[in-house]
Amino acid sequence: MAEAQDNFIPFNKPYMTGHETDYIRQAHAHGQLAGNGPFTAKCQHWFEKNTGCKKALLTHSCTAALEMAALLLNIQAGDEIIMPSYTFVSTANAFVLRGAIPVFVDIREDNLNLDETRIEQAITGKTRAIVVVHYAGIACDMDVIMELAERHGLYVIEDAAQGVMSAYKGRPLGSIGHLGAFSFHETKNIISGEGGALLINDPAFMERAEILWEKGTNRSSFLRGEVDKYTWVDVGSSFLPGELIASFLWAQLKHAQETTSRRLKLWQSYHHAFEALESKGLIRRPVVPDGCWHNAHMYYLLLPSLEARSAFISDMKSRGVMAVFHYVPLHLSPAGKRFCRTHGSLANTETLADRLVRLPLWPGLEDQQGQVIEHALDVLKGYPA
Ligand SMILES: *Cc1c(COP(=O)(O)O)cnc(C)c1O
Repeated sequence: MAEAQDNFIPFNKPYMTGHETDYIRQAHAHGQLAGNGPFTAKCQHWFEKNTGCKKALLTHSCTAALEMAALLLNIQAGDEIIMPSYTFVSTANAFVLRGAIPVFVDIREDNLNLDETRIEQAITGKTRAIVVVHYAGIACDMDVIMELAERHGLYVIEDAAQGVMSAYKGRPLGSIGHLGAFSFHETKNIISGEGGALLINDPAFMERAEILWEKGTNRSSFLRGEVDKYTWVDVGSSFLPGELIASFLWAQLKHAQETTSRRLKLWQSYHHAFEALESKGLIRRPVVPDGCWHNAHMYYLLLPSLEARSAFISDMKSRGVMAVFHYVPLHLSPAGKRFCRTHGSLANTETLADRLVRLPLWPGLEDQQGQVIEHALDVLKGYPA
């Protein structure tokens, strides 16, 4: 038992840069604990500088950022939002909360991103927006999607929860659509426990975004001295995190490059290790299209079937390695059936969701990654071709 504990390799381990408590202490000493203080400003400025977005606003989560996006677009009951079913629930929930109907379109077989060739057929007179999810931090084909959206007068929101530090043809993810959303949940690359950011790329949304963010008041203008009192001017909520969270995030952002490099090294080691199995046709590895610079958010394998995937997860677990799967496609979930509809076949979504397994990937895994690979190769060797 004790031995099993010692050798246990978790799926995720939140990575700390070592400077988090210093900045938390500074925030504490400064005495402003509410949001929209100096650390919030530093973080937001970092995103503006590093992504080129017009404005970044820290939020409690990517979920909250997506909810802000739905409010900003004035999404109304009955509006349709095109998105993948292969995603986290928040992508859909943010719009369902406004009474809108998520319309699911299938994903591409190669990188599990929204299939840009199937979007147009799903557009109706009620379609308002396309929400793209950059799965595993690997970009959707944004040139095609932005052109399509422009031709049909639709908004594009990037659920870039997994895409901090990734890019598409040199452009940072989150900065390409009209709005973008990041997550700093502890399972992501850059973390603050819970946390997120809304990136505003279309300047038309800048002023109202700040108001929604500050509970429907013009407090941000007041703090800048633009108005002499602040008051309730629009709908809104409390979307902003406190300064302790922002100070933690600041420590993470200062080391974002280094964290990403460490993850990329681990990703490459996996990719190299499973090359031979892929050429034998036993598994499939992730595909990174030309022009996509990814952040090594995730390393996954596609096994031949659901049965093989279940066996792999339990065999790995018995060897002390936690491998996991996700997502249950939203159109197959109880709430998805109730609130959403599908367009066309979702065959790729259904089969790929059954076959995908994620391997542990976190900075600090370096010493144990060899064991994960050894176990995985050994387990897979026993499976029929
Ligand atoms: C993690 C994730 C979210 C939710 O992020 P939170 O910060 O936990 O709200 C949304 N969409 C995708 C694709 C995610 O991976």
